[in-house]
Amino acid sequence: MTTLLDAENISVRYASKGGWVQAVSDVSLQLNTGETVGLVGESGCGKSTLGKALMRLLPAEGHLRLNGDDVLALQGKQLLPFRRQVQMMFQDPQGSLNPRQRVGTSIARPLQVAGWSKAAIQARVSHLLEEVGLPASAATRFPHEFSGGQRQRIGIARALALEPNIVICDEPVSALDVSVRAQVINLMRDIQQRSQVTYLFISHDLSVVEYIAHRVVVMYLGRIVETGPTAEIWQAPAHPYTRALLAAAPVADPRHPHSDTLLEGELPSPLNPPAGCAFHTRCPHAQPLCKQQRPQLKSLTSERQVACHFHLS
Ligand code: SF4
Repeated sequence: MTTLLDAENISVRYASKGGWVQAVSDVSLQLNTGETVGLVGESGCGKSTLGKALMRLLPAEGHLRLNGDDVLALQGKQLLPFRRQVQMMFQDPQGSLNPRQRVGTSIARPLQVAGWSKAAIQARVSHLLEEVGLPASAATRFPHEFSGGQRQRIGIARALALEPNIVICDEPVSALDVSVRAQVINLMRDIQQRSQVTYLFISHDLSVVEYIAHRVVVMYLGRIVETGPTAEIWQAPAHPYTRALLAAAPVADPRHPHSDTLLEGELPSPLNPPAGCAFHTRCPHAQPLCKQQRPQLKSLTSERQVACHFHLS
């Protein structure tokens, strides 16, 4: 597999009333051609901030390369080719689609900005609508005329308009009913099989992540605590936080192996994160060392990493 996006030691901090919030700390990850990487963790763990930083929607420190080119150095118009290759898809397409604009106009917008001719835009919009399972006539209607699932299909069509290599999807199906959610996820998988597009799939819904993601990155208070192939992590999570997240997720299979560990307590404030291992205030396996020394992310195998002094597998 070829590495498309290579993020190295990405950190994001912002000013808040109480001081500086370190929302993302030293995160390194790679996105490869045609794969889906699930980015999971509780709300407030920094996963959406990381997604925006990878899109260059937020200032970040570190190194970010797309096909080897330095992305953080790009400014103004230099960013246009990057924006063509990396698109974003949001939870609420209703919020990102202009309610007074016909669907076709919304999908056409990125194509217009890229300088496509009228005829080429029309043909591309029809093709995109067909690809996401909507009739070409949908182009002449307004967003409110569609259901939530159909609007998300429109969101997918717009994100794919310029044939990006990467789509960063922030909770793309969280607002949908379970049955519609499955349809949209299957559509995303079909599109990936046809086009080899890469997804970074940000979600708190672990059942969806298990279904769609080849690899998983688990974040806690702005840092990666575990990463590896989805099936392996689901079978034997190495970090107590991953184990607790999986135990808290609704699962169809009652023989699920991690139902013995429940996640207790609140996520600490990122304004004042605990010293040592940030998870020690909630970890059932915490030892005195955990309060003093932050565990580094270390390799368990060539594909798995964990940040825990006393990891579970
Ligand atoms: Fe728990 Fe210690 Fe591991 Fe942190 S380092 S997850 S506190 S055992």
